[in-house]
Amino acid sequence: MDNDLIEEKPCPICDRPLTDKSASEHHLIPKTFKGKETVTLHNICHRKLHTVFTEREMLNYYHTIDRLLENEDVRKFVKWVAKKDPDYYDSSKDTKQRKSKRRK
Ligand SMILES: [Zn+2]
Ligand SMILES: [Zn+2]
Repeated sequence: MDNDLIEEKPCPICDRPLTDKSASEHHLIPKTFKGKETVTLHNICHRKLHTVFTEREMLNYYHTIDRLLENEDVRKFVKWVAKKDPDYYDSSKDTKQRKSKRRK
């Protein structure tokens, strides 16, 4: 069935639909290293990649979606984010959940 999605393809990382406000462009080879090819990902997926990998790691190895998805941290993230709303964005800056956060 066709939904009116902005992007025709789902996010290659988490496979959820992309919407206009949740999408961002990732350079498979970082711009720093003159990479030109981009893929469209969710903001949250994109940000995750940049917390897991350094730009140099992306340049040296993690410059295809398949390789990114090989990574254990990325796979855990995908499982987790798959249950979230496609527009979900982890706004850790203004979290209101401080009280409920309990660590032993
Ligand atoms: Zn995604
Ligand atoms: Zn990026």
